[in-house]
Amino acid sequence: MPYRVVATDRVSKKGLAPLRDDDRFDVVLIKDSSDPEFVAGLKTAAGLIVRSATRVDASLLNGAPGLKVVGRAGVGVDNIDVAAASERGVAVMNAPGGNTISAAELTMALLLAVARRVTVADRSIRQGRWERSSLQGVELRGKTLGVIGAGRIGWEVAKRCRAFGMDVVVYDPYLPADRVDELHPHLVSLDSLIENSDVITLHVPLNAETRGLIGDSTLGRMRKGAFVLNVSRGGVVDERALAEALNNGRIAGAGLDVYEHEPLSPDSPLLDAPNLVLTPHLGASTKEAQIQVALEVARSMRNALVQGDVSAAINASDLANASGLS
Ligand code: NAD
Repeated sequence: MPYRVVATDRVSKKGLAPLRDDDRFDVVLIKDSSDPEFVAGLKTAAGLIVRSATRVDASLLNGAPGLKVVGRAGVGVDNIDVAAASERGVAVMNAPGGNTISAAELTMALLLAVARRVTVADRSIRQGRWERSSLQGVELRGKTLGVIGAGRIGWEVAKRCRAFGMDVVVYDPYLPADRVDELHPHLVSLDSLIENSDVITLHVPLNAETRGLIGDSTLGRMRKGAFVLNVSRGGVVDERALAEALNNGRIAGAGLDVYEHEPLSPDSPLLDAPNLVLTPHLGASTKEAQIQVALEVARSMRNALVQGDVSAAINASDLANASGLS
């Protein structure tokens, strides 16, 4: 009997090739979890692949007695009750690398848009104006980029900015030893990065240490012409403080893709702040990233179901009986 894998939330069909092209799997694609076929499919499923829409909670897991693996085609697992999955011996796997280039490229799009006031210029021309002198920008060449969090995405952004002639400094206290050796010439303290960067870009997870990392105190110590970019997680930037710093000219511009509450509330102070470019969490929204994350999770799921290899699971250490998977 092939392993049944239910894939929903419009996961990329192309990215599911490692499972669809393998006779050991029977892949059922169901558009969304409100479809009655979804509930029926789960009854016999060994694997479930979702993006961010389907809530994988205890009640869903109870309706899937044979489930061994939940795959999230993407990074965040906010929509998956990982504790409930662990209790039932279900491995939870995500696809942390598939979004990297797309998120790095969106960061570059925000940076260039802020530096050259692209969105302001676009709006002004549509309003019948032809404002050239008031829309003067700045070059990136020779400026200092401060990368907070030099993991997958942060370092891809750094490489791209170096190609623009920027100097790069990095703050990341949790880099593995080999990366510390490699990035050593760029590593600085957080204070030094905050005070000496022209562009500060955030690529950290959201946790107790990073929440509000960019707030009144850090904004108050930045260079007057500094830009702040956040394509990581909402909450790392204090939105009220950022809006205030932009309004009073304390910093010169910002670009955000992620917010404390998504979608962004219509009464957010960000909406009236000057030289701020906003995108609605588009970091991973490219054709390529959607294929990559599905491929990554499909491969991990295949290894888990066929070989019992759950080393890629985010709850691997909680799975008491991982070897029973195959
Ligand atoms: P990663 O794990 O490869 O890198 C994160 C880096 O942050 C690591 O090097 C880690 O050592 C460092 N770090 C952790 N705590 C830190 C701290 N307190 N100060 C400084 N550095 C710290 O992750 P990644 O794949 O590069 O993703 C980075 C962020 O981007 C994550 O929050 C991820 O969820 C987010 N992301 C957003 C989108 C989007 O659509 N906007 C897409 C992909 C990823």
